[in-house]
Amino acid sequence: MIAHIFEDLCNGCGSCVNACPTHVLDPSPAGGPPVIARLDQCQTCFMCELYCASDAIYVGPDQRGPEIVDPETVRASGALGQMRRDHIWNAPPGDQEPLAEYWRLGPLLMEGAQISARRYALKHPPIEPAAEPASPDKAPATASSR
Ligand code: SF4
Ligand code: SF4
Repeated sequence: MIAHIFEDLCNGCGSCVNACPTHVLDPSPAGGPPVIARLDQCQTCFMCELYCASDAIYVGPDQRGPEIVDPETVRASGALGQMRRDHIWNAPPGDQEPLAEYWRLGPLLMEGAQISARRYALKHPPIEPAAEPASPDKAPATASSR
């Protein structure tokens, strides 16, 4: 799940807000870093990380729940921007084929979509049809038929 947005790296461009398929992020009204507004909808798809040209987002690998991370440990680990580097997102045309390894994201995205669908179903259970009103033509039930 998305775990941290580094304020000092973020330029408020809003790319992550637009890239997130499940509307986890809201733009900051003040033009600063986006707000993680709906963490429970995060499917750990890493799109926000991929689209952040400033490498200001860290998504943790755990899809099951929020992760508490120490931002400075994450920064020192070299994990920031890893998704972009691993998928050659910034390669100039003709240098390396952008997204050469993008297929590796397939299973991860599939699992994220499945988790998201299950969460949606839990939050929006099907509505039961209303009971039919009793017909006035029907004879009232007798004591023996109850
Ligand atoms: S990991 Fe995916 S679902 Fe979660 S905030 Fe980023 S883009 Fe949205
Ligand atoms: S994409 Fe990166 S720089 Fe742009 S608003 Fe999101 S976190 Fe900030």
